[in-house]
Amino acid sequence: MAEFTTQEFYERLAGIRLRRKFLWSVFFSYIPVIWIALKIGGDGLAIGVGIFWLILASIGGVMVSFSLCPRCGNRFHMKGLSTSWGSHCVHCKLSLKERS
Ligand SMILES: [Zn+2]
Repeated sequence: MAEFTTQEFYERLAGIRLRRKFLWSVFFSYIPVIWIALKIGGDGLAIGVGIFWLILASIGGVMVSFSLCPRCGNRFHMKGLSTSWGSHCVHCKLSLKERS
């Protein structure tokens, strides 16, 4: 069980939301960014951008998957080897929508 002040609790919850926003923005940017890269730089630039995008998606995925729940202290999105990117902790069901 994690012990935080109320302010720390909500800051950690906001941190999880921020990491999720980063990951989703990386995912949703893929097609438009690759399209622009193809238009202005051709295949070479698109491949470079695609590799950079894969690196960002990997970083985002790790940051989200290994986020710790401020209530129970377990990984917010991981239970065993399975990962769920839902908006509730897979252990204690804490919602990301909880606000101070
Ligand atoms: Zn939890």
